[in-house]
Amino acid sequence: MSSLRVRFAPSPTGNLHIGNLRTALFNDLLARHEGGKLVLRIEDTDPERSKPEFAKAIIKDLKLMNIGVDEGPFYQSERLETYEEYLEKLESQGQVYRCYCTQEELKARRHEALGQKRPPRYDNRCRRLSKEEQEKRKTQGIRPTMRFKVECKDAIQVEDLIRGPISFPVDEIGDFVIMRSHPTLEHKWLPTFHMSVCVDDGLMNITHVIRGEDHLSNSPRHALLFRALGFAVPKFAHLSLIHGPGGEPLSKRYGALSVSDFLEERGYLPEALRNYLALLGWSPKDNREIFTSDELVKAFEIRNALRHPAIFSEDKLQWINGEHLKQMPEKNYLDGAFKFLMKSGIPIKDRISMERVLIQLKNDIHKFDEFPSLFSFLCDETKHKRKLEKAFKENNELSNALKAGAVVSKSAESIVSHLTTSGDAFYQEFTKALAQSVTEKGKKLYIPIRAALTAETHGMELKRIFQLLEPARIRTRFEIANELISQK
Ligand code: GLU
Repeated sequence: MSSLRVRFAPSPTGNLHIGNLRTALFNDLLARHEGGKLVLRIEDTDPERSKPEFAKAIIKDLKLMNIGVDEGPFYQSERLETYEEYLEKLESQGQVYRCYCTQEELKARRHEALGQKRPPRYDNRCRRLSKEEQEKRKTQGIRPTMRFKVECKDAIQVEDLIRGPISFPVDEIGDFVIMRSHPTLEHKWLPTFHMSVCVDDGLMNITHVIRGEDHLSNSPRHALLFRALGFAVPKFAHLSLIHGPGGEPLSKRYGALSVSDFLEERGYLPEALRNYLALLGWSPKDNREIFTSDELVKAFEIRNALRHPAIFSEDKLQWINGEHLKQMPEKNYLDGAFKFLMKSGIPIKDRISMERVLIQLKNDIHKFDEFPSLFSFLCDETKHKRKLEKAFKENNELSNALKAGAVVSKSAESIVSHLTTSGDAFYQEFTKALAQSVTEKGKKLYIPIRAALTAETHGMELKRIFQLLEPARIRTRFEIANELISQK
């Protein structure tokens, strides 16, 4: 058992999206690869933006994705006293001070600094605020923040497992806020993200901090704070950002999509999504692309994470999902497929025939959400009739095919009403008899048949449609189509 300890620390201000899920996955993979532990910590100290329902949804999504949480969830909102204790420690060490600058003042100074091309860092002015000035500001109703004194002279070195050693010039880092006055309770403090992260990583003995590159610039502050709090600085690994297919930030197109959207709405397999996300920002150094979860754990090395931005491609995800479907044991595949079909409201009358067709499709489909449209023709005949009438009015390709193929569907109706077989023999005898009674061939023959049976011009192979619709229903559907054609 290794002593490696990592954590996933989401803020519950929205659903778990792809970027955060990838961070969770990389933590999980490293913990499993090294035989370490993964801690789940909910960073909910922002009372305005954090919502318990988001925390619940994140925990559910992590379960769906088989992210193995060993400890937690721990809620930072339940640990406010701990942060205050550590604030006292820093105060007694003389490493913090009260700052009475207002948001407006800070904003104006930032603006001015940027205008003069200076780094917009805080100028540490409240370090020197006299007691009288402090009192004056207090009586004006200004509530202070607590700032941490950045006192080191040299550049701050941070070791990143992906990027190597990074040096941050200290003159760009002003004293930073680690606690804010509680919005409602006087004499109480709320930690900023910097404080709660460092106190908790320290107390939870976190050895490796894996998070998004957007936090890279926080790491020198955190390194200083860890030391001041009396904790060892963990190793960092900042994952490159994920961009959309056109290089735009991912949030534009996919940012709002939660894990449940991918798994439950779009029908991706958790295993395939894990596989895809692992490759989104990490490379196994051989050309392998399809991994089971166990294979990923074995191959995963954090130092092989990529430094350049990763591009999210749903096409690639679909392909990987298709490969996982091919490899899936038949029983699991069928269970998943039926679950998805039932949720979509597709009526399943003949489960045996359905299983047969689903197995035939196993190597062709990419994800379960292709099923509802493929099987939508299984609706009852009343609904089918409405669908066909509508398509006949609105879909030129379909109405032209049916009109031009009037002879075909007339003959089809008459053939099916005479056939006495069922199952595969029924389809064989039907196609044979049809070929003998009409001269149409290829598309001219099959599109009118498909249109009459499914109210669509594209879709599942005819042979499979015949496997799923009993002869009596096939006959009714030809009757409906012929009636419609003869009305016009
Ligand atoms: N709560 C932070 C976030 O959701 C993560 C903090 C960290 O990983 O250090 O961005």
